[in-house]
Amino acid sequence: MNECIFCKIVSGEMDATIVYKDEQVTAFRDIHPVAPTHILVVPNRHLASTNEVTEQDEQLLGHMLAVVKPIAEQEGIAESGYRLIINTGPDANQVVYHLHLHIIGGQHMRHPMG
Ligand code: AMP
Repeated sequence: MNECIFCKIVSGEMDATIVYKDEQVTAFRDIHPVAPTHILVVPNRHLASTNEVTEQDEQLLGHMLAVVKPIAEQEGIAESGYRLIINTGPDANQVVYHLHLHIIGGQHMRHPMG
């Protein structure tokens, strides 16, 4: 049985506020937002982290970035700006081992890189 919470959000088994979905990726609001806009883009197919990505996944990874602009426009942050973050492994504080791209925008962004 699949215990991955992001797989459950993708399948609809677990609730989330989904802001975008297509055949390859799902985007939903982070439950603990660190900024006014905080969205996670995940591949619908389970990949634990960038450490599992291979050349076979190049199209999927490109698609994860390609959906950012329409999502940012929908959220009204395309022009004001946003940060994209992928955490991989313990030193990066990766908590959920299903690859995800954070889209963080709006004022009051908290991030160690300033
Ligand atoms: P990371 O440290 O990159 O693994 O970040 C995991 C992110 O997932 C955190 O920002 C959490 O707040 C978020 N998160 C965990 N569970 C859920 C959930 N059920 N729905 C939405 N976001 C979640």
